[in-house]
Amino acid sequence: MGSVADLELAAVRKAFADTVALDGVTLDIAEGEFFTLVGPSGCGKTTTLRTIAGLESPSSGTVRFGGEDVAGVPTEDRDVGIVFQNYALFPHMSVRENVAYGLKFADPPDGQSVDERVTDLLDLVDLSGMGDREPDQLSGGQQQRVALARALAPAPDVLLLDEPMSALDARLRETLRRQVKRIQTELGVTTVYVTHDQAEALAISDRLAVMSDGAVEQVGTPREVYERPATEFVASFVGENNLFRGEVVGRDGDETTVAVDGTEFRIDDGSRDRPGGANDRLTFCVRPEDLTVGVEANRFEVAVDTAEFLGETTRYYADWGDRTVVFRTPEAHDGDALVLGFDPADARVL
Ligand code: ATP
Repeated sequence: MGSVADLELAAVRKAFADTVALDGVTLDIAEGEFFTLVGPSGCGKTTTLRTIAGLESPSSGTVRFGGEDVAGVPTEDRDVGIVFQNYALFPHMSVRENVAYGLKFADPPDGQSVDERVTDLLDLVDLSGMGDREPDQLSGGQQQRVALARALAPAPDVLLLDEPMSALDARLRETLRRQVKRIQTELGVTTVYVTHDQAEALAISDRLAVMSDGAVEQVGTPREVYERPATEFVASFVGENNLFRGEVVGRDGDETTVAVDGTEFRIDDGSRDRPGGANDRLTFCVRPEDLTVGVEANRFEVAVDTAEFLGETTRYYADWGDRTVVFRTPEAHDGDALVLGFDPADARVL
């Protein structure tokens, strides 16, 4: 398909019988970008990826590679490399043969021989010494690197990764995540990565799309999505959060006063549009690391229920009336009654 610039989905809808898997997905993924689709089980991540790959065709809407509509273009002509959750390696082929299989339907790039290409790729994924082994002589992480090398063998324009680490233990996932990111950066290959793990999505992506119920809730850099969640769903799904629902009772300059069950909080969202008019219902959120003991503003008394020691911080769950709030701090708090507070600028209006 020639050299592909960016990857676009425009109002893509996909229905399977009476299940609507994708309900109008629009995305614009830039060349060389590491782009992640993240969301809970069943939200449509895999269907989006399969639609990009040409393994599903949209019920309506358009997929474009480099500005060209790819409707009707079969997977093998889309220049995509795919890695699935289950490594799908051939058990009775050596590692070299498995990687070479990636060149069955495409020539190696730059006039290389198959042998040269396979050697380069094994080098790239740090498996140089393992070419003669069979998959069952490798760890899960190593098998997934073989699958990655196989997908990259024909130098695809787009790399599609569907939960490639979910079968690995936490420690191995972190190692492989760094390797995948390094390889992607080195090659500059446009990558679409599917995961249900929001922490992984924050750690690995240039940008991510948070999905829910077949729709995209928000697209942004990890920092934008974390610091400025657009919806309640994003605020709660990406990282932990405390949601407060109340009623606007006043304004003073940039600050809005919101009453939550009789307690008044001053919030300054920092956005140009001042949120809500008087008596409007308003929801805002405060991250656990922004709820602190000893801050002067927005104080309220809680009763600590449980503490989880996490190493560099401790996570506390505390009761405030009939709600539970979560806060995280490096200090240890003994005793159960505490006064928490937060800076008005750390509240985000949803
Ligand atoms: P998971 O993280 O569990 O893999 P997902 O976000 O990748 O979930 P999809 O696999 O894209 O979600 O599924 C989205 C919705 O479409 C789900 O409700 C699913 O049951 C449905 N679905 C997916 N594939 C099919 C199919 N071939 N036939 C019928 N329904 C399907």
